Amino acid sequence: MKLLCPVCGQELHRVDRRVCCAQNHSFDYARQGYLNLALRARAGSGDEKRMVTARTDFLHTGAYGFLRDTLCAWISEEKPEVLADLGCGEGYYTSAFPVREKYGFDLSKDALRYAAAHDKTTAYIVASTSRLPLPDACADMAVICFAPVFEKEICRILKDGGSFLTVTPGPDHLLEMKAVLYEHPYRNPEKSGVSFAPEKEEIIRQTFRAGSQELAALLTMTPYFYRTSPEAAARLNTCGELQVTAEFILRLYRKKSPALL
Ligand SMILES: [Zn+2]
Repeated sequence: MKLLCPVCGQELHRVDRRVCCAQNHSFDYARQGYLNLALRARAGSGDEKRMVTARTDFLHTGAYGFLRDTLCAWISEEKPEVLADLGCGEGYYTSAFPVREKYGFDLSKDALRYAAAHDKTTAYIVASTSRLPLPDACADMAVICFAPVFEKEICRILKDGGSFLTVTPGPDHLLEMKAVLYEHPYRNPEKSGVSFAPEKEEIIRQTFRAGSQELAALLTMTPYFYRTSPEAAARLNTCGELQVTAEFILRLYRKKSPALL
């Protein structure tokens, strides 16, 4: 698969440690091996680095390993030759996907620096998933795991009959942690973010024990971090070990060929 120049849209060709198009727009590979195709890359902020560290620390406990295994099983059934992971983060899931040609896209340079350094089986590219540097109908499958779903853009890059797999938090995801943080913990809404019905849908769930270190990492890597008072964060810090539910909704959507629409 050829990547496209984010400036002029022409094909990019690899020349040593960079890629360039026929108009001579050129983009370097970073030392860690990822490629930056974002015209306006987000400056790496301290916040972002802290989130990357929290996420890798937490994911390495293996608490979400069952989600990774389930994703791999669903992907295996589809047998994609080319897969794009949209919002791949540090590549924890991407690195395990059983696909020969795979691409991980994310706007966070900090996350891709980690991903590219630890996983040589995936091409990692800094780019917005709302405007991918990919030609039409180039991928067999896309995965969107806890990331915004840009449906039109996903369907543009998928081949006819291709599929995309979304992962969103289930209603009870991290409910026990939220019960410590908030007086009225709400259950997650079950919205899919996609305008048509999935071909397959499943809720998977496991509980894990989390000590104060894991709880702190979990809080930092979730959106709750920004809406939690210092008092509530302190409560979480002193609550001891918690039994926490991890619950995910997986949905598989298929891009219909225009003849069938
Ligand atoms: Zn160009």
